[in-house]
Amino acid sequence: MEQLLRSFFLFLSKNKRMTKAAKRYGLRFGAARFVAGETIELAAAAIRKLNEKNLDVTIDYLGEFVDNEAEANEMANQTIEAIEAIGRENLRSQLSLKMTSMGLDISDAVVRRNMRRILDAAKINDVFVTIDMEDYSRCGKTIKIFKTLKKEYDNVGTVIQAYLYRTVKDIEDLNSLHPNLRLVKGAYKESPRVAFPEKKDVDENFKKIIKMHLLNGNYTAVATHDDKIIEFTKQFVKENSIPSDQFEFQMLYGIRPERQLELVKEGYKMRVYVPYGTDWYGYFMRRLAERPANVAFVLKGMLKK
Ligand code: FAD
Repeated sequence: MEQLLRSFFLFLSKNKRMTKAAKRYGLRFGAARFVAGETIELAAAAIRKLNEKNLDVTIDYLGEFVDNEAEANEMANQTIEAIEAIGRENLRSQLSLKMTSMGLDISDAVVRRNMRRILDAAKINDVFVTIDMEDYSRCGKTIKIFKTLKKEYDNVGTVIQAYLYRTVKDIEDLNSLHPNLRLVKGAYKESPRVAFPEKKDVDENFKKIIKMHLLNGNYTAVATHDDKIIEFTKQFVKENSIPSDQFEFQMLYGIRPERQLELVKEGYKMRVYVPYGTDWYGYFMRRLAERPANVAFVLKGMLKK
């Protein structure tokens, strides 16, 4: 049943008609639990509250699978606006983005031009940018563009997904660039031809890449809500005397907020991923796919109205 629900919500997350409808009707169906609001002003207010609790942030102007150049350019403009707001308001926040919203599916020239505009603005405002990893069909392209950008900019990192078979090799290949990487389990529906179908194998691979990247001396963001992985990381950094400024934990806005604060109290760096914007639908569906309890929460919210 859980697997069925997961597939259903991942299927819905890619529905373009629903994405358009959702944009028109505003934050609905409990999405406000996971999305800070539709405007940069609301997002900035949410960041300020998190910063006051000693939580760091990475902000994401929501958008994905953009298929025309004008829209991709506008997404880049909005992203630059977010970067400028971080700088102007002195927020303790990095920025995350999806390259499909910057033109990855349109052309190499469009996506590279938008990424350079964004990274230039980020450099001026001292903001670090993480390129989120999307579905497998875009992984190779994303890593290729990341490699070029990393040679030009020191304020860019990307994400590596533990569920892919290719991941260990990617960690090895990227090591020469000493990248700051966010490590995650992976959120998309992938074929067993390219990704581990069993959760236990994903978890083992996750631990393996955490070890590799830390021992290579690279900055590692362990992005998970899974206590087993968090405990594993804590133990590993202790046993291997990994300095506290070489790693951090990350979680999503609205998910396990108490645990986020506990980790801060324990002295760990904790960064919250704060999405905002009108294009909340695909992001919201993936959060529902991850956890049936989230679906129950949403259904309760709908019945109350
Ligand atoms: P899961 O396997 O989902 O959960 C493991 C355990 O964690 C559960 O059994 C439970 O004990 C606990 N848990 C989980 N949720 C809750 C909850 N709500 N309340 C209480 N306990 C809970 N994926 C990508 O593909 N690309 C990206 O770029 C990307 N960026 C991300 C950025 C951040 C900051 C984070 C946190 C995740 C990101 N993801 C990304 C999503 C990621 O790949 C996973 O889909 C998502 O994090 C769920 O996996 P998990 O590691 O949290 O553990």
